[in-house]
Amino acid sequence: MKPEKTTLRAVEGTKDIFGVEMNRFQRIMKTAAAIFGRYGYSAIATPTFEHTALFARGIGEATDIVEKEMYTFTPGSDTITLRPEGTAGVVRAYLQHNMHREQGFVKLWYAGPMFRRERPQKGRQRQFHQIGVEAIGASNAILDAETIRMALDFFDGVGVTGVVTKINTIGCMKPECRPAFREKLRAAIAPRLGELCKTCQGRFERNILRIIDCKNPECQKVRATLPRCDEHLCDECNTHHAAVQEALTAFGVPFEVNPYIVRGLDYYNKTVFEFSHPALGAQDAIGGGGRYDGLVEELGGPVTPAVGFAIGVERTLIAMEALNCCACGTVLHAYGVAVDEDCRKALAGLVIRLRHAGYNVDMDYESRSMKAQMRTADRRGAVLTLILGSDELAAGQVTVRDMREGGGQERIAIADAIDRLGIMCQARETPCGGSAS
Ligand code: AMP
Repeated sequence: MKPEKTTLRAVEGTKDIFGVEMNRFQRIMKTAAAIFGRYGYSAIATPTFEHTALFARGIGEATDIVEKEMYTFTPGSDTITLRPEGTAGVVRAYLQHNMHREQGFVKLWYAGPMFRRERPQKGRQRQFHQIGVEAIGASNAILDAETIRMALDFFDGVGVTGVVTKINTIGCMKPECRPAFREKLRAAIAPRLGELCKTCQGRFERNILRIIDCKNPECQKVRATLPRCDEHLCDECNTHHAAVQEALTAFGVPFEVNPYIVRGLDYYNKTVFEFSHPALGAQDAIGGGGRYDGLVEELGGPVTPAVGFAIGVERTLIAMEALNCCACGTVLHAYGVAVDEDCRKALAGLVIRLRHAGYNVDMDYESRSMKAQMRTADRRGAVLTLILGSDELAAGQVTVRDMREGGGQERIAIADAIDRLGIMCQARETPCGGSAS
């Protein structure tokens, strides 16, 4: 039986990444490792699925994610969920491996696929990638600002200019702080509940803060009349907010304070921030994060302050494409062209030796015409072409053609090829560092 056509296509809301886009994807990963490493972060990889309870507890029962977006299944007696975000898993690992006892303060970064059953649209998928960081164990406002600075360094590193940084504070759980603000909000919204969208009417009881960041124009009209979060907080949160802004200014970060940023996850307190980019359209958030001083305790650990962010990889790719950011892949130093099978055998040996010497080299395996092989060398962007014909083979030589404009060609001894190649291709670096390694 033939499979149905749809089963041969990627599931809606998922996508394949390859070619030029993969070059950019790899640049994102390389840049993240380099920049985050510079700030003292080490990498962690946690599983793509966890016990459902971890997310219910860590993200919050009343959040959109936990209420309706998780991929949860029950193989046997377990109930497990494909991770919708990375923080809960990292904090679980932090506790499970006793990092809180053995290391105290830690800085960890991760990258990987996340899964949310959202309505797919441009920039919103059901499987997408995030890179994220978590600095666990310190409450200093400098750290909040440092993470924001680091995210912007990352965006600079991948060539995404024009990122807008918005920060806000959503206070803490002390009775006089966010709980009191929530009550003020409740009192202000109650008489106008009918003017809000259906989703926000539901949020009124369960997650009232989210009403503030609803994109619906009717809800935004109501919100303009509501009390501002950053004007109703406790002294400690106010001081922290001021200190974050002071540090951001000292670190040269342009930012705006936006009282409508509240973030969708329950675990945040004090600082919340979002990065947006105008190239993204309706889904313009390219990353976001904040402080989450209560999460470690919520997941069974000691009271431990923390701050982190997650950046959307696919949205970064959209911005990179819009900005025409360099998408160079690995440089192909040489491409081998052979005129017949004997030459191909000899060429294959030379190609392997060159690879062992550290060059990126490929060759023709399809016994095609010289012209077709040369075309491939050109299309693949090879710096040099190594041409082996029967004359060369008999003389123990290979013809090396410089593929750059105005480049000539010469015959060299196969035995000298390794030494000569380095000089000839001058290990061409690409602007984004997509070079030999
Ligand atoms: P969040 O964990 O919701 O704060 O998301 C952090 C970042 O991940 C967002 O700013 C987006 O760039 C990206 N993101 C979140 N959800 C999606 C999605 N469904 N598809 C693609 N990217 C997403």
